[in-house]
Amino acid sequence: MDIKKIRKFYRNHKWIEFSNKIKERDGNKCTNCSRNEEEVILQVHHNTYYENKKPWEYSPLDCITLCKGCHAREHNLIEPNYGWILISIDDLGGLDGVCERKNCNTAIRYEHIAYHPKWGYKTVGSSCISFLTEEDKFKSHQYIHLYKKIAKALNTFEWSKSQTKKGRYFIFTEYQKSTIRIYKDNSSYQLAFYLGKKRVNWEKPIQPFKKNIPHIELVKELALINLMGIIATERDKKEELKVLQDIYKNLKNSIRNLC
Ligand SMILES: [Zn+2]
Ligand SMILES: [Zn+2]
Ligand SMILES: [Zn+2]
Repeated sequence: MDIKKIRKFYRNHKWIEFSNKIKERDGNKCTNCSRNEEEVILQVHHNTYYENKKPWEYSPLDCITLCKGCHAREHNLIEPNYGWILISIDDLGGLDGVCERKNCNTAIRYEHIAYHPKWGYKTVGSSCISFLTEEDKFKSHQYIHLYKKIAKALNTFEWSKSQTKKGRYFIFTEYQKSTIRIYKDNSSYQLAFYLGKKRVNWEKPIQPFKKNIPHIELVKELALINLMGIIATERDKKEELKVLQDIYKNLKNSIRNLC
């Protein structure tokens, strides 16, 4: 398993839910050429365009499913430079992507998928997202900032081994005067967090693991996000907590797909 491959740390759930409904209604096939998900990439196309509507606020009657090829042929017009929304940010783990902004073509690591009801989909890097709404630009900045902070901390952590009085083994590390402990029992991991000497409840700010997560590096990463969530709660940083919860959820989902 390559744990570095495509991590989804931002998802626009409203759009994903909406577009999944349209695809489902259309039988998960292109309404033009009838090819299905296994043969082509399916996308959602808007037949009409309203300037002030978010793409998921349209009536489903205004939308159809098209494959990527049929969709591209449908949009034979000049690329709009406003009115885009951010759908997702993926970490490719290296400079493996290409920015699709006109005349850019730069190799990119953080793939921003943007959507415009009048134009379709576009993939760009974090410096070419200038055409997105202010809200989405800010969102992208926040997500990437926190995500990089997580990656940096993980790279500098030193983990040590220890055991409880009852002889239970665990590994631990310190972050901003707090401690993370990871216990391993059979095939599941348990986490414990301490702010100073105080044990804190980790189930509160972020959902706990339900089942086994096989790779210890991934467990460390989720544990760190958990701890950062606890710290954000303590400091009443609501915005940051929300972003962390989201990153956590998205990483967990992409990890589930990777394992
Ligand atoms: Zn098609
Ligand atoms: Zn379209
Ligand atoms: Zn670019």
